[in-house]
Amino acid sequence: MTFDPPVSCPVCEEVLELDRDLEEHLVGKHTQREVVRYVVSREERAEIGSVGESAAPN
Ligand SMILES: [Zn+2]
Repeated sequence: MTFDPPVSCPVCEEVLELDRDLEEHLVGKHTQREVVRYVVSREERAEIGSVGESAAPN
């Protein structure tokens, strides 16, 4: 028997039930627009992060 770590939704950070998969959650709980918006904002953040991260105070 394998143990799968809990999967959390990258959009709302809700931890999914073990018998649910992320795709089902995204389709059921989020609109396509929400998912797209998440992907876009993550990419924007990645671009900013590559510049700004080294400037973060320690
Ligand atoms: Zn979600």
